[in-house]
Amino acid sequence: MKAQGPVTGEDPFNAFITRCEWKPGGKGMLAGIMVAVKDNISTRGIPTSCGSRILEGYTPPYNAHVVDLILREGAGIAGKTNMDEFGMGSSTENSAFGPTKNPADPSRVPGGSSGGSAAAVAAGMVPMALGSDTGGSIRCPAAFCGIVGLKPSYGRVSRYGLVAYANSLEQIGPLARTVREVSLLMEVISRYDPRDSTMGDRPFTPRLTGEVKGLRIGAPAEFFGAGVDPAVGESVREAIGLLEQSGACVVPCSMPSMAYALAAYYVTCTSEASSNLARFDGVRYGTPDDIRKPWHDAFREVRAKGFGEEVRRRILLGTFALSAGYYGKYYAKAQAARRNVSADFARIFRDVDVIAGPTMPTVAFRIGEKTDPLSMYLSDILTVPANLAGIPAVSVPCGKVNGLPVGLQIMGKPLEDERVLDVAYAYEQGAGR
Ligand code: GLN
Repeated sequence: MKAQGPVTGEDPFNAFITRCEWKPGGKGMLAGIMVAVKDNISTRGIPTSCGSRILEGYTPPYNAHVVDLILREGAGIAGKTNMDEFGMGSSTENSAFGPTKNPADPSRVPGGSSGGSAAAVAAGMVPMALGSDTGGSIRCPAAFCGIVGLKPSYGRVSRYGLVAYANSLEQIGPLARTVREVSLLMEVISRYDPRDSTMGDRPFTPRLTGEVKGLRIGAPAEFFGAGVDPAVGESVREAIGLLEQSGACVVPCSMPSMAYALAAYYVTCTSEASSNLARFDGVRYGTPDDIRKPWHDAFREVRAKGFGEEVRRRILLGTFALSAGYYGKYYAKAQAARRNVSADFARIFRDVDVIAGPTMPTVAFRIGEKTDPLSMYLSDILTVPANLAGIPAVSVPCGKVNGLPVGLQIMGKPLEDERVLDVAYAYEQGAGR
């Protein structure tokens, strides 16, 4: 498919689906700053495709709350960024608009699903971008592209105008090259919105002291275990060592529920997706070839044509997990495992202030390298626990392996977004950026 809308300037990494020249205003906290917006965040008058053919020709009649907020603070919109269709993927290869390339090495994926947002920032096309994170979609591309990305606490940023994939897991969040910029964008987008009933009125007050003296860091063994590239683990341990040298102390801990976290995540997200995506029936969105056919024929046709393979797979998986005979076996079990993940975090957080580990088990892989869905799912093992528990988590660059960026992940107690950013800031300063 071709990009929609006006296209301006070069886009060598295919970071954008739609380019626009929504000029920044002269006043406000983001005055003069161009922001790239992930294409599942609604923008009035600018096409919003979610990386899917099924939304071809759809232009939202309203702005997401976060979009209103950034515009009110004087930001401009540089365009809508490429993504895995409906957020389903970890590489941005599952886009109807072709894959995005990683600016650090164009033969490799930028991570996903907010790969276009991360690539646009890493390539210097924009200073900041908005992404969404259901199971790692902000942190994964931030890690793979060598930038900073925050998944806020659940309920800290309004999801009004975010096209839903798995509501109970996802949050909109900021990506930028430095922690300070991420913190600034977070301050703007976290303002209260009564239209998202899961949101509390808890103003975000940036607090970048860079001070970690006495900070207690948990580093669960499971975050450095099987499946994690030893070189990646080593660079993250070095990064944690640097925080220790600045006065933090590392507390050994373990997280047994990690064994079930990925399965709990994939059953939950596919179940929610199967229900959320039922609205794409060709009546309001997507165009059936012949509307006079019996509705189930028209419905089947438009969905078979409009959805990509991974989206179809997940709708089937989720429908199965929720079906009468299997609900108890899959969905209910997944919720029990999800509660165990939250309980493990609560227990660990009695002894520590933050938890640190790698963001991703490997560095960016090659485009086309992962062909079976399971190996792609496995790359999310270190990011999904934070979504299952609704806690804040940031990825900050911590060196390179084979010339490719590695991300240090810092997770915090519920609603302590300020603290995870402060620890990331301490690392960033200490690492001499
Ligand atoms: N890779 C995960 C998935 O495919 C996470 C995606 C996301 O956070 N949107 O579900």
